[in-house]
Amino acid sequence: MLDIPIIGVLALQGAVMPHKPHIEAAGGMFMPVKTPEDFARADAFILPGGESTTMLKLIDTFGLEASLVKEFAHKPVWGICAGAILMAKTVTNPAQTSFGLIDMDITRNGYGRQLASTVIAVDGYPVSYIRAPVIERTGPDVQVLATREDKPIWVRQGQYIATAFHPELTADYPSPFHKTFVVLAKAGQK
Ligand code: GLN
Repeated sequence: MLDIPIIGVLALQGAVMPHKPHIEAAGGMFMPVKTPEDFARADAFILPGGESTTMLKLIDTFGLEASLVKEFAHKPVWGICAGAILMAKTVTNPAQTSFGLIDMDITRNGYGRQLASTVIAVDGYPVSYIRAPVIERTGPDVQVLATREDKPIWVRQGQYIATAFHPELTADYPSPFHKTFVVLAKAGQK
């Protein structure tokens, strides 16, 4: 087992760089990833917040889907906001394709438009909701780790984690979520 896992942050679009100080403070190595060669080097992946439709278009344009599917099958993945949408089984508002890594149904922009964006603490740590999705349903194998108004906002299914919110925009390093994920990435290293 290596001591410093490489955390690959999918760097096609969205909030990539804000993860660097969190990952490093949590004892991981930050690596922006955008090619199949990069993907193979990463021990775990963060699918960042941003715009899920744009990310899907870029994945398609650059022909990355097959290699991502292959890597996700055996490595930890954490999806944040748009990234959580990419991990869901079913996506609505509007419907779009996804990797289906977590047995959950998600509604895009379910917490409202940009004006409804807000900062709320989860387990005492302030996190940002930015046109965030609502997790409407989770399957029996999904652990709900935190809720907001009775809806899951932080879930886990095996090596997969999703948060509806962005912890990486808070400048208090590392966030507890990055800490947890680096531990998961270490455990997943072969
Ligand atoms: N609204 C965006 C989407 O549907 C997600 C927003 C975010 O990642 N902050 O993809």
